Amino acid sequence: MNPSPESIAGRYGTPVYIHRQELVERANSDLLALLPAPCRLYFSLKANPNHHIGSILHRGGCHAEISSTGELASAIRAGFDVADALYTGPGKTAGEIATALAAGVVTFSCESLDDLRRVADAAVAADVVARCLLRVNGPAAHGNSAMRMTGAATQFGIDIATATFTAADLDIDGVDVVGLHFFPVSNVVDETVLIAEILASISHARAFADRLGISVRLLDLGGGFAAPYGRDGVRPTYPNLRSAVSDALDTSFPGWRDGAPVVAFESGRYLTCDSGTLVAEVTEIKSSGGREFVITDTGIHHVGGLSGIGRVPPISATVVGAAGAESGAAAVVGPLCTPADVLNHRSDLAGAKPGDLVTIPNVGAYGISASLMGFLSRPAPAEVVTDGDRVVAASVLETTRRDLP
Ligand SMILES: *Cc1c(COP(=O)(O)O)cnc(C)c1O
Repeated sequence: MNPSPESIAGRYGTPVYIHRQELVERANSDLLALLPAPCRLYFSLKANPNHHIGSILHRGGCHAEISSTGELASAIRAGFDVADALYTGPGKTAGEIATALAAGVVTFSCESLDDLRRVADAAVAADVVARCLLRVNGPAAHGNSAMRMTGAATQFGIDIATATFTAADLDIDGVDVVGLHFFPVSNVVDETVLIAEILASISHARAFADRLGISVRLLDLGGGFAAPYGRDGVRPTYPNLRSAVSDALDTSFPGWRDGAPVVAFESGRYLTCDSGTLVAEVTEIKSSGGREFVITDTGIHHVGGLSGIGRVPPISATVVGAAGAESGAAAVVGPLCTPADVLNHRSDLAGAKPGDLVTIPNVGAYGISASLMGFLSRPAPAEVVTDGDRVVAASVLETTRRDLP
């Protein structure tokens, strides 16, 4: 039995995030089972930087994919060996690269030749050699509507269609270019589209490596594995992905089964999204202009990740223990003093009463850290991790202002 939302709310107050460890473990094993083997799986801490979640995935065999010094600190706290981590992201500063190198990070994905040179300069200064992947922006396999990171004009990666550099330009003191990195799209539900993207990455990798005359020792094919966010639903299972990608690797990188190259994938949302539920309390019901507003003690400062830029569909909330409410009638809003604090314009929560608990499912990824946490200066919800019927960890993220000398 899992602890009830009521019991967790009774102990930690509301709102409160509940993460179920067994669901993180299941997502991890599900993803490994659908990917080609052998492969390395990176957990993207961007999706959930809580070190209690990271430690579950570290124990499950994941490596860390990090993109800031804060994520670096979370990865270390989670127990990841940062010597195995991958540091990614555009515009890495000399300072953060130096911090990462000093902490023991050795592998960087470089998004441009300037980025590669900055890593090289910091590595020379630290008297180490950094292992670098070149992040590739190849032509898109599909013009689909999933969140596209490359395959278009973008700040990510090196446009291989127009790149004119040669292997000699990569021969820089302080770095060893060990491979290529792709992350063209995110959150792709359609298996055909996802396979096409990954196969396109494999063929771009082969062609680009041949053109440059470099050997690929690490081939990071990214991800794009989808998960429902803030509404009911299940993760796609991609039943044909393993064989289709394995076949393409056999053709283009025949040594991959023996680790030459090591093939890697990355995921944030698939690994964590369905483990997390946000529990909130209804504070007030009011009507205005003929509409009902359900005001809760949570809002876009805690959930609705990236909703400020309109990327996430309305989230759905359900009254704990209630059956069959009228559909589509009430707006669910939060307490922030902005009309933007709407979790759902047309929810199923009509009939909810003050004091009712509501749950928002599938928010284990892109929760607090992807929300407007600083806006209105309200405290963050507690984040509780359960394993079966036990609470195994509880923590809260705090933002505090510190005067500088
Ligand atoms: C955001 C990001 C991820 C994780 O994306 P998900 O959709 O959460 O799996 C992985 N790799 C890179 C380079 C990213 O920017």
